[in-house]
Amino acid sequence: MHQLPSLPYSYDSLAPHIDALTMEIHHTKHHQAYVDKLNSALEKYPDLQDKSIEELLRDLNNLPIDDKDKMAIRNNGGGHANHSLFWNIMSPNKSVEEDLKSEIESTFGSVDEFKEKFAAAALGRFGSGWAWLVRDQNDQLSVYSTANQDSPYMDGYTPLIGLDVWEHAYYLKYQNKRAEYIENWWNVLKVL
Ligand code: MN
Repeated sequence: MHQLPSLPYSYDSLAPHIDALTMEIHHTKHHQAYVDKLNSALEKYPDLQDKSIEELLRDLNNLPIDDKDKMAIRNNGGGHANHSLFWNIMSPNKSVEEDLKSEIESTFGSVDEFKEKFAAAALGRFGSGWAWLVRDQNDQLSVYSTANQDSPYMDGYTPLIGLDVWEHAYYLKYQNKRAEYIENWWNVLKVL
């Protein structure tokens, strides 16, 4: 059984950048629903129940299951993996990963240039989805976005930084102003 991870901080600790009510609903309702639906999609596949969420998503296309269940795992397993990362890369206190920062600087020119590129991916995602910094199969960093809850693991990438740009992630505080949410989010990104 997959389980909802607990947050490493309280719901109000990312305020004012992300408000407590948004955090609580996002974690206890949205993420919990992805976990529950993932578990029910896996009910009839005992062999898949011990696989990690990363394994399931990386192998999604090769899983011997019907298309409807594959789509349920793609959406809800993706939702579970994406949010599990999202909670962990945020914090009220910065803890910069110096190696990652240096690699970002050498790949994108500077942290600011990386942020511009990442924000453009987040803003350019029409509808619901995510912006990502990933490590690709050649060990290179790259920025892109996915639709819905599609996971970078499905593309063979390893996600390092992800930003949820579904309206449920920001609408209570920012309404339709996604750009403002993105700009403020850098304040609670722990690793950079
Ligand atoms: Mn979300």
